[in-house]
Amino acid sequence: MITATVIIIGGGPAGASCAGELRKNSIDTLILDKALFPRQKLCAGWITPTVLTELEITPGDYPHRLLTYQRLLFYFRGIRVPARTRQYSIRRLEFDEYLLKRAGVPVYQHHVSHINKSGKGFIIDNKYKCTYLVGAGGTHCPVYKTLFTDIHPRDPKRLIATAEEEFPFNWADPECRLWFFDRGLPGYAWYVPKQNGYLNIGIGGKQAALKKRGETINTHWRHFITMLSKTGPAMKHQFSPRGHVYYLRGKSDRVQRGNAFITGDAAGLATRDMGEGIGPAIKSGKLAARAIITGMPYSISSVNHWSIPGMLLPDALSGCRQG
Ligand SMILES: Cc1cc2nc3c(=O)[nH]c(=O)nc-3n(C[C@H](O)[C@H](O)[C@H](O)COP(=O)(O)OP(=O)(O)OC[C@H]3O[C@@H](n4cnc5c(N)ncnc54)[C@H](O)[C@@H]3O)c2cc1C
Repeated sequence: MITATVIIIGGGPAGASCAGELRKNSIDTLILDKALFPRQKLCAGWITPTVLTELEITPGDYPHRLLTYQRLLFYFRGIRVPARTRQYSIRRLEFDEYLLKRAGVPVYQHHVSHINKSGKGFIIDNKYKCTYLVGAGGTHCPVYKTLFTDIHPRDPKRLIATAEEEFPFNWADPECRLWFFDRGLPGYAWYVPKQNGYLNIGIGGKQAALKKRGETINTHWRHFITMLSKTGPAMKHQFSPRGHVYYLRGKSDRVQRGNAFITGDAAGLATRDMGEGIGPAIKSGKLAARAIITGMPYSISSVNHWSIPGMLLPDALSGCRQG
């Protein structure tokens, strides 16, 4: 049996930031992740200045691709609305591996299937044993499924369906563009250039609302690609988008049960307006770590429910260091 005081399931932004805090406080911690890093994570890779503040780095400290936008271009049913704001893009493949290495705890590649309680602690797949268990395994996190479905129900109306693709592309247009509600999409589509010749395009919308309209996210993907090829850059690219689902912030804030905690997408913490999940994952991971370190209850009341107010007033709301 491999034992640790804390076992974190999932080495994405939530798990890595939780592990980093615990390690700084000399708490014996390990991470289990089914994937070998660097691993692909479907995500547009847009991050806010607050994310860098939470990570205690400036853009110049980040060792991989990071593109700075001085504004975002919003489109509402064809009307272009530029918003002055400083935002960034990264590639998740690089960002998540960087965070995980930085955390500095042992990482085991293991797909977690069974979690059993053992006194106040837990046994995982009859192989790993811990006193504290942190669920950071994203939407399908086994900690959520085993221990939290009754006290932290997820609202099907807040389930987001997505389709996206990230690919090498020599873009000439460096703007980050977001199209809201085109053709009744209950969500938005994005064009997110990355530094040094990568591009991420994608689309996300509320699954239940799409179903009500007799549509799928793929219906809107096809419209989006047609629109881009008519009005945007001519892309000689054979698209094969992939999809993933995740939850926007719900009503329940019950994210601790005894010595078990859920963070990030496992707790469904993406912001209600933009579906921003990286910042909430990092923040909640750190908060869970603080609860374990101090023995105080774990609360996510300080994790933002919304992105847009902070995005448009980044200095005022985040007090961030900007490079
Ligand atoms: C298409 C798309 C675009 C997005 N764009 C943005 C964006 O631009 N900006 C933003 O802020 N947010 C975005 N999000 C949301 C963001 O990606 C997530 O909220 C964020 O990744 C959550 O981080 P996490 O650490 O909670 O989970 P994840 O990053 O999903 O990490 C979970 C980890 O757990 C591991 N795992 C899962 N199950 C198991 C298991 N059984 N055993 C062991 N390991 C397991 C996985 O391998 C994974 O490494 C987007 C999401 C999607 C789907």
